[in-house]
Amino acid sequence: MSNIVCTHCKTLTLSSYKCSNCSRILPIIETNPFLLLNLPILFNLTKVTIQEALIKKLLIYHPDKFALADSLTKKIITENSALLNEAARALKDEVKRAETLLLIQGFDLNNNKDLIHQQILLDFLEIQGQIEDSNTNDACKLLLDYILKKLEHNYQEIAAAFEKTDLNQAYKLVVKRNFLLRTKLNIENKLEKLYEVI
Ligand SMILES: [Zn+2]
Repeated sequence: MSNIVCTHCKTLTLSSYKCSNCSRILPIIETNPFLLLNLPILFNLTKVTIQEALIKKLLIYHPDKFALADSLTKKIITENSALLNEAARALKDEVKRAETLLLIQGFDLNNNKDLIHQQILLDFLEIQGQIEDSNTNDACKLLLDYILKKLEHNYQEIAAAFEKTDLNQAYKLVVKRNFLLRTKLNIENKLEKLYEVI
């Protein structure tokens, strides 16, 4: 028996989706974005899978189905849809998805900030230097290819770490991914500047 009080009729309801007494739609209370979208709690999810899950869930709250509903119900379906969109947006970002997984599994992101590997920082600085020294399109594109391969490898490594429930390792790899993404952006900016010169 749930302890949810219906927003509409103020009685206890058995279902958290629709009031078991007045049948009206209730506000979503689930905060886990994976569960919100009926997705498996996994790192290895594609954007397509997430989008499909989102569309399926949004259909439940489609405004056309509630054209004749009272204004409170209309407000709730709008808010529920917004929550679903927000959950999907967070999960499509693989860094946020990994961080969400870590939080769900009880890993304290804030308490582990100093876990950042010295090596990651050194690698990052070295590549920064290489970006500064790369003054041709070809040189920048080579670097970009290199980083894209690293990002791909890093993704597989994160998935493997989560599979083994090695959360410390997963976190380190996520930190590394953030650096790699920043590096990618720096190279892209440099490439843009090189094009401007021409
Ligand atoms: Zn009710």
